[in-house]
Amino acid sequence: MKIIRDEANGEAVRINMRKPYDMHQHLRRDAMLKLVAPMVARRFAGAVIMPNTVPPITTAEMAWRYQEEIAEAWDLNIGSFEPLMTLYLTDMLEPREVALRFAKRTAVGVKYYPRGLTTGSDSGVKDPASLWTKGTKPYEVLRALAEQNKVLLLHAADGLDTYGDELDPYEQEKHFIENTLPYIIDAHPTLKISVEHLSTKEGAEFVGKYGGKRLGCSLTAHHLMIDRRDVFRGGFHPHMHWWPIIQPQEHKEALRDLAREGPPFVWLGSDSAPHPIGKKETRCCIGGVLTAHAGIEFYTDVFEEIGILDKLEQFSSVNGPSFFGIEPSKEQITLVREEWKIEKPFFVAKLGTPLSKTEEVIPFRLGETVRWKLL
Ligand SMILES: [Zn+2]
Repeated sequence: MKIIRDEANGEAVRINMRKPYDMHQHLRRDAMLKLVAPMVARRFAGAVIMPNTVPPITTAEMAWRYQEEIAEAWDLNIGSFEPLMTLYLTDMLEPREVALRFAKRTAVGVKYYPRGLTTGSDSGVKDPASLWTKGTKPYEVLRALAEQNKVLLLHAADGLDTYGDELDPYEQEKHFIENTLPYIIDAHPTLKISVEHLSTKEGAEFVGKYGGKRLGCSLTAHHLMIDRRDVFRGGFHPHMHWWPIIQPQEHKEALRDLAREGPPFVWLGSDSAPHPIGKKETRCCIGGVLTAHAGIEFYTDVFEEIGILDKLEQFSSVNGPSFFGIEPSKEQITLVREEWKIEKPFFVAKLGTPLSKTEEVIPFRLGETVRWKLL
């Protein structure tokens, strides 16, 4: 990594670094896939593709077909791009799918969704205890994963407390970290576990303490950039609403501290999760926002803001792929200090209507200025 600084004021003006990997990306399908894939492929050497599409990716066969769809969705002139597939962990997923079929192909792991707690999680595991209870299918899937040295990707949230009462959304991750994750780790000591889009100080503390070759986490740019004050300033901002929820300031600070420490088990996972405007500005605003339009630039901005620009390459381009057993990219990207404005929404064809009908997709930070620009 090379940072070139202005001789007069010492300010960084140009960065050359290895092309990053996005370890958590919702490419979606159809029109949205065609919109998003080129944004991602331009910025990232590869991405871990989330399986909560409609329908969800629940078999190896579906994952390979989805991978082909993705390959067709970006312009090869942009450069090579490696879609790293995941399977959706359901109560029905056959351990054989993992044991027999993962070894040969590019699938990197299985994604756990707590049922009903996030977008597209209806097929998720009903009872988290099945992850550590012998004889259940999820338990056997995790054993097969460990044998293949693949990764369990966790949406770390519980819906119910230990008495069976519904948890407050701001408590879901904390509860999972303290009450569910230790059981999974105990039951599968050789399994590689990635806590996805870590969002709380309790999570940062746990991963900071126990992280290593078997446990790590991804951080999103938005959880590092904004906190609950931003989401509710002057009213509720639907285009700042994600699962896991944007926590109060102290949690953002804890995530920033974890990034500052720069351990090898903390990496980039953007959780760019686009929705058409009709799903956001409506009776019940769905979680997830597009960030792929500035997928590496947002991180560069916030890493500079918190004084750790020198750690950007390790975090973005090395730590994630290394944990997942993938060679970091040999390609380079260049970022320059040049302000640009996110001026317009994007458009996708509106599903179920004539092709001429389109719908807006509001990108994160629409109307605002980004300090770093990808060349
Ligand atoms: Zn996600």
